[in-house]
Amino acid sequence: MSERVTKGDAILAHYHHASRSACGIIMESFPDLFGDDGDVSVGIGWAGPVSTLCAALQVYSPEIQVSQIKTKFGSLRIYYAPRTKLPEPEMLTAIREFESISHEICELCGANAKTRRRNMWVVTCCDVCADTIGAT
Ligand SMILES: [Zn+2]
Repeated sequence: MSERVTKGDAILAHYHHASRSACGIIMESFPDLFGDDGDVSVGIGWAGPVSTLCAALQVYSPEIQVSQIKTKFGSLRIYYAPRTKLPEPEMLTAIREFESISHEICELCGANAKTRRRNMWVVTCCDVCADTIGAT
């Protein structure tokens, strides 16, 4: 195994650890939005935008609960559980906007990015992070 791959794997381990911590903080920050079963699983580079989105969702549709926010094929996916009514149009617009711009935000550092591959993993990352982790 080359030194480059070893370095990339080590950095990814830190990335996953930091991402889990950031997602935990987001869920703790919006207890009404996520309830007991909601889950956030995104890279730390998306923590800021996702926090902003959560704040917006809580304002737009206080009766809606988010069941999951995650990365799928390098893009943001949001699943919500209407309890008593449908989401407000502003909430749907906010979700669509974040989903559509997510593939331009580095999951690792938040810089401008594009979707790439690292082995079987589809990851959205910037040129610097792609070089660091060995994504192409
Ligand atoms: Zn990056």
